[in-house]
Amino acid sequence: MAISKSEYAKQWRLKNPDKIARYQKKYYSKNKEKLLKNSKIWRLNNIEIGKLRASNYQKDNREKFNIYKKKLWAQSSDTRKKQNCRHLTILALKRHGYISGNRLCQAENCNNIGVIHHWDYDNYLDISFVCSEHHAKIHSGIIPNGIFRHF
Ligand SMILES: [Zn+2]
Ligand SMILES: [Zn+2]
Repeated sequence: MAISKSEYAKQWRLKNPDKIARYQKKYYSKNKEKLLKNSKIWRLNNIEIGKLRASNYQKDNREKFNIYKKKLWAQSSDTRKKQNCRHLTILALKRHGYISGNRLCQAENCNNIGVIHHWDYDNYLDISFVCSEHHAKIHSGIIPNGIFRHF
């Protein structure tokens, strides 16, 4: 069955990718100046398009960057706030003669060792001591806020 010229060319291209690559490279190095001049001319003729593209790109990226920056800032200020709060809590506990790890879980009838849970990072004294089991229950909302406090 006879195949068309274009179909033949297509199949040849598919079978010979490295030949094509070599040819393209050769063509490019032979016509480098012409090609560069052409693209320069295109750019000169299309300055407005180029400018628009660049400014769109900048604008797009600036917005993305601003969102990223805001997110980063929110995260870091939140982390800093929590760190600071934990630090103040430890100082306060020391002032109260507390030694880390010697408080029992405050949940009713639980005698496991408790760790600090912060109910509110804006108030470093708003804490409870809970074992890991009850701590998990607080964080999953099973134990509601306001049920018990250390101070
Ligand atoms: Zn907690
Ligand atoms: Zn417990």
